[in-house]
Amino acid sequence: MDQGRIPPPFEEHHSELRESVRRFVVNEIEPHVAEWEERREFPRELYERCGELGFLGLKFPTEYGGQGGTHLDDAIWVEELSRRGASGGVAAGLNAHASIAMPPVFEFGDEWQRQRWIVPGVRGEKIGALGITEPGAGSDVANIRTRAVKVDGGWVVNGSKTFITNGVRADFLVCACRTTEEGGHGGISFLVLESDMPGYEVTGKLEKLGWHSSDTGELSFTDVEVPDEHLLGEENGGFGLIMANFAWERLLMAIGAVGAMDGLIDKAIAYSSEREAFGRSVSSFQVTRHKIAEMATTTAASRALTYDTLRRFVEGEDVTREVSMAKLMTQRALVDIADQTVQIFGGWGYMREYGVERDLRDARLGPIGGGTDEIMKEIISKTMGL
Ligand SMILES: Cc1cc2nc3c(=O)[nH]c(=O)nc-3n(C[C@H](O)[C@H](O)[C@H](O)COP(=O)(O)OP(=O)(O)OC[C@H]3O[C@@H](n4cnc5c(N)ncnc54)[C@H](O)[C@@H]3O)c2cc1C
Repeated sequence: MDQGRIPPPFEEHHSELRESVRRFVVNEIEPHVAEWEERREFPRELYERCGELGFLGLKFPTEYGGQGGTHLDDAIWVEELSRRGASGGVAAGLNAHASIAMPPVFEFGDEWQRQRWIVPGVRGEKIGALGITEPGAGSDVANIRTRAVKVDGGWVVNGSKTFITNGVRADFLVCACRTTEEGGHGGISFLVLESDMPGYEVTGKLEKLGWHSSDTGELSFTDVEVPDEHLLGEENGGFGLIMANFAWERLLMAIGAVGAMDGLIDKAIAYSSEREAFGRSVSSFQVTRHKIAEMATTTAASRALTYDTLRRFVEGEDVTREVSMAKLMTQRALVDIADQTVQIFGGWGYMREYGVERDLRDARLGPIGGGTDEIMKEIISKTMGL
């Protein structure tokens, strides 16, 4: 959709990575994705393969096994993984590890913590998950009840988490815990729990509308003993870490959505050009062409806002408002574009054959996960002084 021009903030040298992710998706994910969706998981070896190709550590320094790149490299990986060929579930499972669980460990972790979780994580040998949401704390993050009580040499953790992407197979969980008696924003800390710690239990794997090949786990912690070295960042400083992480997670969701919109437009054009009704191609109907034109316009506007926000994020600006706007705009737009694509495909769009029904189901999580549309509007209006 960019007519051959490389749009800022990306530069010429990013094209190679874009091409190599596209090739990887087409050759190593697309042929298997329907089966993985059916099985409700993709193979664990896919993490190791991504590690081998360098995709899990794009923005981490080479001394930790990374590629020494920047957030822009990670953005390309996410955009191309979402474009077409992979499912929302595959993208979610890989990114919950590489782009959501590992960044706070790297950013807020000390050398010991980086060696323990980043080095094997970049190789895809250890898989991470981010554990914030609880049965009673979704949008209201400050209401977290999982309790970590300080004891000599560490912490004892009791509580539960739900909706955790990679929750079933994760080796380490970057887990938000309450570390003071009082509620509210102040008393939250992050501890890295490991799944083989006694008392750490996977209590369920959730069946979902979309993202079928990613596991979404329910977890319970009973007197889990966590050593002092597993505290990430400042004690009681966890709310700041949550907010810092949300900015990147939401921006990545927007980037993934613009990639997915491109993929849907390509599918709509290809199918409607081939399919005939009343003796002519479906794309020859004005209503189809106009629908696709609207989809392309929405995608261009979404990309402009998202890339501009990404540029400002990389330059170190506070983009709380813009990230919220980009997430709000792109997630709804993607649901709409996926719905329009199913409509262009007619009855075949409703069937599994072309995968656009999966695109529609996968898109629906966007306005909910990582902060709902309603919460985005709250943040935007607050930054406007309302
Ligand atoms: C497939 C999937 C994967 C996920 N992966 C993860 C993960 O890896 N890690 C993790 O920690 N979490 C994860 N989540 C959780 C996700 O972030 C939450 O679902 C989301 O934050 C919303 O919380 P909730 O579901 O409890 O909804 P609720 O907070 O109960 O909200 C219900 C409704 O009330 C509205 N609402 C709530 N508060 C307000 C308000 N103040 N003003 C206006 N409206 C409001 C909401 O917008 C929503 O429409 C995942 C969820 C899903 C479904």
